Amino acid sequence: MASADIKTALEATLRRIEIAFARRPSDVTTAKPRLVAVSKTKPAEDVVEAYEAGQRHFGENYVQELVEKASHPAILEKCKDIKWHFIGHLQTNKIQKVIKVPGLEMIETVDSEKLANSLNKAWDQLETDNKKPLQILIQVNTSGEEAKSGVKPDETLSLYRHIVDNLPNLHVKGVMTIGKFDHDYATGPNEDFVTLMQCHTDICKANNLTASDVLVSMGMSADFEEAIIMGSSIVRVGSSIFGTRQRKSEC
Ligand SMILES: *Cc1c(COP(=O)(O)O)cnc(C)c1O
Repeated sequence: MASADIKTALEATLRRIEIAFARRPSDVTTAKPRLVAVSKTKPAEDVVEAYEAGQRHFGENYVQELVEKASHPAILEKCKDIKWHFIGHLQTNKIQKVIKVPGLEMIETVDSEKLANSLNKAWDQLETDNKKPLQILIQVNTSGEEAKSGVKPDETLSLYRHIVDNLPNLHVKGVMTIGKFDHDYATGPNEDFVTLMQCHTDICKANNLTASDVLVSMGMSADFEEAIIMGSSIVRVGSSIFGTRQRKSEC
């Protein structure tokens, strides 16, 4: 996509986020939504364009692609304050690669106790300066689809407690879902968003937290406005900013 187009599309997306946020009912008190620009399949130059237009948070769903993009010379040189979100399925044998990514901000897809334990250990052993706990989200499989990763909704709270009680090198910031694609809003609210908001409420109640303390990552190009109205505090938007992708089955 030409650079002017990325800037324009980014600005249009940010406007739509503001408008949706303004429409959020007053009883929904989760944090203000933040945009994660999903750059998967797109070249480093596109990331630089969006960065220079003001975007800081970016998302990638393949370990190898994240590693390559985050260490691309143009990005290292021009995007000093970039913040990468890993949003794909993470296998334990790829942990070492992900945690060394320059500018890694958060892993949004912790979907098992085993993965959480391994990340905790790996982060403990990582040698870097000024190390803070690694920020993570718990991925919830709200749709129950076989092909999707994530804990079952009713296992979310116990994974949350496990991390808080036992894994000091992880900072669990909230919950995330991908959910079913192509929900027909004429049939009513998106059940995936309803379910994730219930997980969010359960965590807040059980741990005496306010709604804005626990992040909710849901909503993509097709439905980020609905997600924001329902309480999303992180929207992951790719094609609306960078244009459609060639590669199939990226999720
Ligand atoms: C690709 C992807 C997105 C963004 O999808 P778009 O429809 O292009 O906005 C969001 N979240 C995850 C986990 C993805 O893999």
